[in-house]
Amino acid sequence: MKNLWNDKDAKATKKTGQNEDLALTVYATRLLGRDSDLVLHGGGNTSVKTTIQDVHGRDTEVLYVKGSGRDMATMEIEDFPALHLQPLQDLYSLDRLSDAEMVSALRGAMLDALQPMPSVETLVHAFLPYKNIHHTHSNAVLALSNRAEGEDLCREVFGDRIAVAPYSMSGFKLAITVLEADSGKDGILIPRHGLFTFGDTAKQAYRRMIDLVTTAVNHLAEAGGQGIKAAAIPFECAAVSDIAPVLRGLAAIPGKEEGNFERFILDFRDNKDVLDFVNGADIERYANAGNVTPDHVIHIKPKPLIVGDLDAATEVMDAYEADYKAYFDRHSDGSQIMLDPKPRVILVPGLGLFGLGRTPFEAARAADLAECTAKVVTAAESLGDFEGASEADLFNIEYWGPEQEKLGTAGDKPLLGQVAVMTGGASGIGLATAQMFAGAGAVVAVLDLDGDQASEAASGLGGLGLACDVTDADAVKTAFNEITCNFGGVDILVSNAGAAWQGRIGEVDEAVLRKSFELNFWGHQNAAQAAVSIMKAQGTGGCLLFNTSKQALNPGRDFGPYGLPKAATLFLMKQYALDHGRDGIRSNAVNADRIRSGLLSDDMIASRSKARDLSEKDYMSGNLLGREVMADDVARAFLHLALSPVTTAATLTVDGGNIEASLR
Ligand SMILES: [Zn+2]
Repeated sequence: MKNLWNDKDAKATKKTGQNEDLALTVYATRLLGRDSDLVLHGGGNTSVKTTIQDVHGRDTEVLYVKGSGRDMATMEIEDFPALHLQPLQDLYSLDRLSDAEMVSALRGAMLDALQPMPSVETLVHAFLPYKNIHHTHSNAVLALSNRAEGEDLCREVFGDRIAVAPYSMSGFKLAITVLEADSGKDGILIPRHGLFTFGDTAKQAYRRMIDLVTTAVNHLAEAGGQGIKAAAIPFECAAVSDIAPVLRGLAAIPGKEEGNFERFILDFRDNKDVLDFVNGADIERYANAGNVTPDHVIHIKPKPLIVGDLDAATEVMDAYEADYKAYFDRHSDGSQIMLDPKPRVILVPGLGLFGLGRTPFEAARAADLAECTAKVVTAAESLGDFEGASEADLFNIEYWGPEQEKLGTAGDKPLLGQVAVMTGGASGIGLATAQMFAGAGAVVAVLDLDGDQASEAASGLGGLGLACDVTDADAVKTAFNEITCNFGGVDILVSNAGAAWQGRIGEVDEAVLRKSFELNFWGHQNAAQAAVSIMKAQGTGGCLLFNTSKQALNPGRDFGPYGLPKAATLFLMKQYALDHGRDGIRSNAVNADRIRSGLLSDDMIASRSKARDLSEKDYMSGNLLGREVMADDVARAFLHLALSPVTTAATLTVDGGNIEASLR
């Protein structure tokens, strides 16, 4: 492990007026946090004890400690709340301190109540007498310590450089246990949790962390046996795009209203470490042997779901839920409310693993922690059987208030967890709709003929942009497969791609009419068919939305090439509603007119208004309300239909009012 400390960079972290001890700690924290083999996603913490001046100019001893749940890689000075040290140290004399009392004591010791809540391990930092304390959940250290004889092995490997403290529940108890184990060494190791190192300076505590972790890495490399023994995978595994929707559907949580589900986004991983891990002959044993460090449990539950045979996926999911309920009943004292019993990590031998979360970020976090688990367990197994944190310890952390508070909530946006695909999504109505759906919590996939524009549109929304010609059924299937590999499936299709061709119907060239049918009818059919096949695999219903047009109901003169396929698409919408209502799939359309876009370009507006002897303004607002209709108005109508759970086979008109084109 490389020591990345650089005195010049460390010094440069301090800005004018800032406390030097804190600035150096911020620098060290970032160095530690950037190494995913040391900490991940809010794990680990650091602190420094220093003297600052209060508002009266009096010297005050404070503890700066990492804010709870903050990511060490991106820490700033303001992510370290300052706490009065003495009142925290006074807590040591107590025989017991409840979690609520601890939280209240931490709040009470804060110099600035608006700063972030301090780490749940703050009392460890306050009680230990060292100026600088660094704490990580190093993979190599956990690979050594997480086994039946882990404590002995760690003493043997690290010699007298460290003290070993027994595993203890975080909070007051952990702080007492660690202080009792302290004997003035470089650090303290807690098997099945992680490593603390100490120093007079941040540089020294950091160096000791790197030195000790390097010792662990070297020991594993030297003593390493064969690692995980691979099982023979007897079957040719199905593709990710086939498996993901099935798993996603099984993981969805039925809501209170029929047909309503809380859905998850899936993040797939299949690097070599992951494949070695999921293909192991003993996967059932080591994958169920407990989290590598307890705070992972709040993101990935105590156990993953293992799906060896897709045909048995429903049974193993049911068994997983029953097992989770039994785990809850075994450990709950009646004061906790059970969290949902669905897995956050799914292991598929022969294929890889999926992380699950309500947002792409949460899904990636679960997948990162699962990858970390794969690394630690693989390294641990090279020396014997891996044994993670015990079930009781995991329950205590999973249902511990201060840990739950770290999670926050993903919010209650109406489309949270749903994947929405927009064709023709890079501009005009498609882009406005993509923006509105993303704002409502959906993950959006933007398909457009222009791949660069699609990527640009999607990147601003945290989605996926792909080049796709919707008239090419194979290209559409490929794009939907890619969406499924990225997010796990599809819930909503906004089939929007279209273009206008004109011509007098008795004279128009056949090629023009056929070209328009390819895009304005077949483009919709290709996208809808690809979406429906994924929706059916998920088994959680779905929502198809078609952009038809006023032309579908009320033909415009010399506009047959555009209106005829659009009229067919209006019936396509009805046919999907009729044929796939029994699958829970709703199908609706928006009938919009005169929206300024690529389709109705400024040039076209000029020529069509001239043909009618109208000013451009009068042409664009020539409707009952006398107002120009905007792309956002259409997007709002699509969103409204997406959120109407029992509306299907409906057409919603967005045209400012046009009696001739009105439905009834
Ligand atoms: Zn920890």
